[in-house]
Amino acid sequence: MANGGPEIEQLIQLLARLPGLGPRSARRAVLHLIKRKEQLMLPLLAALDRAVAAVRTCENCGNIDTTSPCHICADPRRGDSGILIVVEDVADLWALERAGVGQVRYHVLGGVLSPLDGVGPDDLNLPKLIARARDYSEVVLAMNATVEGQTTAHYITDHLDPSETKITRLAHGVPVGGELDYLDEGTLSQALKARTTI
Ligand code: ZN
Repeated sequence: MANGGPEIEQLIQLLARLPGLGPRSARRAVLHLIKRKEQLMLPLLAALDRAVAAVRTCENCGNIDTTSPCHICADPRRGDSGILIVVEDVADLWALERAGVGQVRYHVLGGVLSPLDGVGPDDLNLPKLIARARDYSEVVLAMNATVEGQTTAHYITDHLDPSETKITRLAHGVPVGGELDYLDEGTLSQALKARTTI
């Protein structure tokens, strides 16, 4: 049943497509926006309009920014570390930046290899990675610890030359603040395999 005119219903349907928002949350959000038309709805409209006009995908690394090359690729200090971190998605790049990983550069694949979903090497930003990798002393594969993520990491390893670039991956194991008793067996056995000297 409609909650208002077609304009309101369409807004609810569009917002409900956002990650983390179902129809119920979308209805609440729309009602909130309508009640705060001046303070929230109009500024949101203006911000969306500006973002639509400004957003670019970086031609170099696949990051999302308002310039291409993005601010990370354009920053000469970022190249000094010689570290290139490969991520599946821009959200992962943002997460690493929030973690303050330092003066590194990134390469965003835009997904992972997934034969079941019809995603092959040509669908990802892989040729560019293979071309970029030789300009860095270390390539860190920061894929998700999923089957597809690890398959993609293996594919990349097979296509990079270890004599040109050191290839590493993120450690898999005990999360910070984690208790061993609560970890699944796969994580615990990975943590033991990846143990380090203190
Ligand atoms: Zn970039």
